Amino acid sequence: MNKIAPELENVRSVAIAGHMRPDGDCVGACMGLYLYIKDNFPHIDVQVYLEKIPVSYNFIKGTEDICSDFGADKEYDLFIGLDSGDRQRYGDAVKYLDAAKRSICIDHHISNSGYADVNHIVPGASSTSELIYELLDEEKITNPIAEALYMGIAHDTGVFQYTCTSPRTMEIGGKLIGKGIPFTKILDDTYYKKTYVQNQITGRALMESILLLHGTCIASGIRMKDMEFYGVDTSDLDGIVSQLRNTKGVEVAIFLYEIKAQEFKVSMRSNEIVDVQEVASYFGGGGHVRAAGCTMQGSIYDVLNNLTRRIEIQLKAWENKK
Ligand code: AMP
Ligand code: MN
Ligand code: MN
Repeated sequence: MNKIAPELENVRSVAIAGHMRPDGDCVGACMGLYLYIKDNFPHIDVQVYLEKIPVSYNFIKGTEDICSDFGADKEYDLFIGLDSGDRQRYGDAVKYLDAAKRSICIDHHISNSGYADVNHIVPGASSTSELIYELLDEEKITNPIAEALYMGIAHDTGVFQYTCTSPRTMEIGGKLIGKGIPFTKILDDTYYKKTYVQNQITGRALMESILLLHGTCIASGIRMKDMEFYGVDTSDLDGIVSQLRNTKGVEVAIFLYEIKAQEFKVSMRSNEIVDVQEVASYFGGGGHVRAAGCTMQGSIYDVLNNLTRRIEIQLKAWENKK
């Protein structure tokens, strides 16, 4: 796929959806594309389906139109799924994919199975928002679209720091900044600034973290009762795993939070050696080489035992190759 416009010919209704617990890239890509279709294809009935987004993203134009209730059945001419490596990641919104006459998936996860009619998957790309940028006509990118895409690219690259950042990513970042968007404020409000309780729970997770595999792995977990105690929800836990990864000498960071009794959402980050996507995929999840996730059952200790066993295999193989 070169551009999105030819895909919209003879299309009268479009559903755009992203993954559960939507992050900055997911929201940026969905809203960037949504605003572009509204501006340039006014005859198309377009709807964005996303679970509730963090309130700090509400400055993005059009977020008030997002539908977070997936109850109504509707058959769209075209379903465009963004930033989701597999069908399950859409949650209940997967029904719009199943019912649609045609489907397109735009994504950058290596683990993407190619579940749509048209699959535009670029695993090396920094973000889905970068892929969306490339599919639009540059001169039709308005400031609200630029704000959405800039947020998405900045979030998935750790503000242009991670290795997924390419010269082209920086070029696109430059073009978006060139439109005159308030990029400092966007990053402060959506990425750096934490609420008091977010800082408190991060502090708690760091304080209770443990080192495993001779200090090469750091792990921490938050239980539901801790979240209740601090009055936080799962979206307040974003960023804890990157904070853990910042520990000197550590190759892999693991952060777990309890979703229900004996069930944990796992987030992993690595620095240079371990392919955490391989580990997450082994346990039914996915992601990228340096950032991946999955859901696992058992006690915190069962989960950590299972994960570290897979990580150790990779660390040993790397030692042997040296
Ligand atoms: P997270 O640790 O949740 O920030 O996720 C890191 C990366 O792994 C993101 O690109 C996610 O899309 C991906 N990921 C997280 N959880 C899962 C999962 N259960 N299944 C597939 N991919 C996941
Ligand atoms: Mn995402
Ligand atoms: Mn992404």
